[in-house]
Amino acid sequence: MRFLFDRRQALLTGLCAAGIPLSACARTGTTEGASMSDTAIRPVPLGEGDIDWDAITREEWQERLTNEQFRILRKEGTEWAGSSDLNKEKREGTYICAGCYLPIFTSEQRYESGTGWPSFFDYEEGTLGFKTDYKLIYPRKEYHCVRCGGHQGHVFKDGPDPTGLRYCNNGAALLFVPRGEA
Ligand SMILES: [Zn+2]
Repeated sequence: MRFLFDRRQALLTGLCAAGIPLSACARTGTTEGASMSDTAIRPVPLGEGDIDWDAITREEWQERLTNEQFRILRKEGTEWAGSSDLNKEKREGTYICAGCYLPIFTSEQRYESGTGWPSFFDYEEGTLGFKTDYKLIYPRKEYHCVRCGGHQGHVFKDGPDPTGLRYCNNGAALLFVPRGEA
């Protein structure tokens, strides 16, 4: 346990260094129900911070994320349609990965799909990785955060112009930063 504790402390220290808010760094015990205020969130662009995201253990992710975030980001779960408060988010701003704070989408890339999941027709270049899954028998293209590997959602070919694509994202896998507070 001592080893684990030391690793966790090192992780949290690293997250602080990468611009993760102190409220998250100082958090101990269960993270269930934890909420971070909008003003505490700071996107961390690609190329910044020195965290080895691949080295973070399952226990460390459980410590860092809420149960719902962990289920979606780390176990490729899907939230119930309409369950995320982000469905109602109309402000201008940036949608960042809830796992590592990488800015993935902007409000300009979002549209109302009527599906009950936050939907986007495009994403910030270089922030997503893709693979095909067969969880619903037919092939679906899964996408994940390129930095921490956290599962975000699936992309479908029924989106609006100009891409014709619909990035159907779990709201719990994202945090929203209103413009001007990033
Ligand atoms: Zn991430």
